[in-house]
Amino acid sequence: MVELARFRELLAFARSHCALYREKLSDIDPRSINSREDLKAIPLTTKEDLRAFQEIGPHPYGGILAVDMAKVTTFRQTSGTTGRPVYVPETYESWQWRVEVWCHILYMAGFRERHRVFLPFGYNVYVAFWEAHYAAEKLGCEVVPGGALDTRGRIQKIQEVKANAMMCTPTYGLHMAEEAKAMGVDPKELGLERILCAGEPMPEATRKMLEGAYGCEVFDHIGGTEVCGWAGMCSEKKGLHIVEPFFLVEILDPNDPLREVSVGETGLAVVTPLGRESFPAIRFNTNDLVVKGPESCSCGRTSQKILEVVGRADDLRKIKGVLFSPKSIEELLRAEFPEIGEYEIVVSRPGAMDHVVLRAEPVAELGKEKAAELAQSLSTRIKVKTNLTFQVDIVPRGTLPRYTLKARRFKDLREKQ
Ligand SMILES: [Zn+2]
Repeated sequence: MVELARFRELLAFARSHCALYREKLSDIDPRSINSREDLKAIPLTTKEDLRAFQEIGPHPYGGILAVDMAKVTTFRQTSGTTGRPVYVPETYESWQWRVEVWCHILYMAGFRERHRVFLPFGYNVYVAFWEAHYAAEKLGCEVVPGGALDTRGRIQKIQEVKANAMMCTPTYGLHMAEEAKAMGVDPKELGLERILCAGEPMPEATRKMLEGAYGCEVFDHIGGTEVCGWAGMCSEKKGLHIVEPFFLVEILDPNDPLREVSVGETGLAVVTPLGRESFPAIRFNTNDLVVKGPESCSCGRTSQKILEVVGRADDLRKIKGVLFSPKSIEELLRAEFPEIGEYEIVVSRPGAMDHVVLRAEPVAELGKEKAAELAQSLSTRIKVKTNLTFQVDIVPRGTLPRYTLKARRFKDLREKQ
């Protein structure tokens, strides 16, 4: 297995060049890793490990940097939504490796030379859309960066240049469609042929809703700043293909990380990017829960598939003793309540009991009576789907925040109380 051979090389390199692994893996002999089973002896790398070793210096990368600092050509960082950001050093070579991986993700989603790709984002210190930009260029697409414009300006630019492809977060895609309609423009008339989504887990119902809104094909992928995008969607649009042989991916039982799950089971995605020496991430725990799929697909690819991205393991919460995934609410809203646009879920504990509120904005103004009916039917469907009682508030349009990058629609206030 080519991934395993490359893994051994990376492991040997990391142990000799990177303070994090010099300490963490000092008793692991790379020559002892000859099968996937042998990988289990190697401890997982967590985000906390990265944060702790960055602290030891030299600034800013500390003990995760495995090359001479002068070789670093690109600075990126994680969003810091779950704690202090992690700074990610890339050399020219390691950045080119990330771009190459992204070429595969874009190609799988049908991006070709004929595409004029609009990127409705300002790129900055986050990795978002930089890889996509360089990879689309490398594939021969034409890239139109739509950064310093507001949403209406971006819609006008798409019309002006006749862009026929786009990349965005699912949330922003829906917001753009809403905004286009408010301008009197049918999003289907924009002429977009395909959209690749990034940045947030996307339920199938949301993907279909975007396809309906724009009258085009919409694709998903999964990845992260620490490990790069590692799986993408092919033309069949049934799950994601791991980008082999660029990664060694293990899908482990969350309750027993010594066991790889079988096809159809949900597990924790543990990813080792195999082409990056500047910052080796060995068996990185992505915290993404995914359903393992087969190694075959009607598109003809033979790479390992994942059937579904369930969500982030750290997003799963116990509410009133019931395990709850915020993604289940998005699935319900997008599949059954198209009259709802933006929404947020707030959990608090005002007394001894957990209290959950869903605040939902309709896409068009509703009368008082209609809003009450909608709240009632939402509350009933949520109870059936999650076994939890939610208070549902229908709030006026424009009340809730709009997100361009990672949406924060789930707020758990119990930790602060
Ligand atoms: Zn396929």
